[in-house]
Amino acid sequence: MALLRFAPSPTGPLHLGGLRMALYNHMYARKVGGKWMMRVEDTDATRYVPGSVDGIRKALEWAGLHYDYGPGHEGPHAPYFQSERLDLYRSYANKLLDTGHAYRCFCTPDKLEETRERLARAGSNSTYDKTCLHLTEEEVARKVRAGEKSIVRLNDSNLPARPPATDLVFGRLKDAHASLATDPILLKTDLFPTYHLASVADDHEMGITHVLRGEEWLLSYPLHLDLYACLKLAPPQFAHIPILLNPDGTKMSKRKGDVQVIDYIHRGWEPEAVLNWLALAGWGAKHDHGPDHEHSHTPKPRLVQEAPDSTRVMSLNEMINEFDLSALTQRSSSLDPSKLEYLNKHHLMREWSTPEGLEALAERAHDQVKAAFPTSQYTSIEYLKKVILTLEGRLTNLQDIAIHGPFFFVEPDLSSDDAQAMLKNITPEQKSQTLQAVTKLLQEAPEPWEKLDLHELLHGERERLDVPYKVFMTVLRHALCGRKDGPAVADVMRVLGRERTLARLKQ
Ligand code: GLU
Repeated sequence: MALLRFAPSPTGPLHLGGLRMALYNHMYARKVGGKWMMRVEDTDATRYVPGSVDGIRKALEWAGLHYDYGPGHEGPHAPYFQSERLDLYRSYANKLLDTGHAYRCFCTPDKLEETRERLARAGSNSTYDKTCLHLTEEEVARKVRAGEKSIVRLNDSNLPARPPATDLVFGRLKDAHASLATDPILLKTDLFPTYHLASVADDHEMGITHVLRGEEWLLSYPLHLDLYACLKLAPPQFAHIPILLNPDGTKMSKRKGDVQVIDYIHRGWEPEAVLNWLALAGWGAKHDHGPDHEHSHTPKPRLVQEAPDSTRVMSLNEMINEFDLSALTQRSSSLDPSKLEYLNKHHLMREWSTPEGLEALAERAHDQVKAAFPTSQYTSIEYLKKVILTLEGRLTNLQDIAIHGPFFFVEPDLSSDDAQAMLKNITPEQKSQTLQAVTKLLQEAPEPWEKLDLHELLHGERERLDVPYKVFMTVLRHALCGRKDGPAVADVMRVLGRERTLARLKQ
């Protein structure tokens, strides 16, 4: 069975890029009937931000991406925090030391810096001169006994042969034997592993079959394959996912707008719309890489299947059904906020068209409305459902409920400039005549309120009074909403109910 992992580092709130990575792991796992876990890569204490893991879990929960194993969902591969698995990484390092694929390096940071500079001055590509590779066993033993600090390095001049690197998105990679630095570090002086050793050890020990991770790891992929080969282990399959960019092609950063999932939660976006938006950015047409394509970044694969348009409205299940790793583009993709607006509107429409969807929507709207109108007593789920259906076409996201329908929750401010301007061309007589007549009409209308045809009652009354239609409706809208635009007056009355409508007309 396929087993995948989403492996965030707890260095702050979850970003859109991280959510997209979790989403792709989730979609792939579900598509092939497999499972996925969340593994917390917390071995770099200098970058650890307390509270990150909770934030990441909440964001995934909101998005409806439920991992099968991980913090809070213990399973056979526990623990799911790398900081609790340090013995494992040490044992892997020891195996590599025993077979001569790794060695201890006792050079001090100052010495290393000096060496790096000297090599660079000499025009060398190396970053280390392998001094410690040449220590004898006795010398190493003596230094260890004397308590000298050491790190563990891979010996990259003695690597076993292995098959070329292939990737489920990028195909076969040309630069398959290049590694990042000379004799990359596997264990740091504090005995914590580097990402390379920890991820290889964990992916193997946990039985990971597919590694879906960000394109930024493509460069270290050959090194990871070398580690598998040194350890005589079969590597999982790899798929590197191209990164997300701003619409202007620049790297996404906080300065340029919302990049954290929490921003999207607070702004009332629909989780499924956000997933839809993230999934389709980079979901290209399906290509056949062919078995003998030699390419890294300049592929010419054969088109097999058209891509879903980047604004196609899809539920998570629909996306899972159509998901295919070989359909991901190899280019970085940009995220266009206007597409999110479009998708969100359509996800909202889908949701309120079923009773369960409407209920769930109202429950989510509750937090938004409570935050905007903390003292309002009109925030029950039943009431919110009516408000949502009445505001319908005006909603791009749930935050718009508070923006377009404040009068449903609090009394309108009739002294505002907007409210005053509404009455500019209306005489005091027209105003009082309309208000009095409609008050009487509604007082005398039979129960139940919900069954009244308010549209028809209002139209009949308008004809009887002989006030111009626009004047009649503006007077009512002014009293009920205190603003020019909003849903039909009769619809506002139906939602407000008889008592609140009459109270506003009488004021
Ligand atoms: N901890 C790494 C990161 O947050 C994960 C890389 C991986 O998925 O292997 O970028």
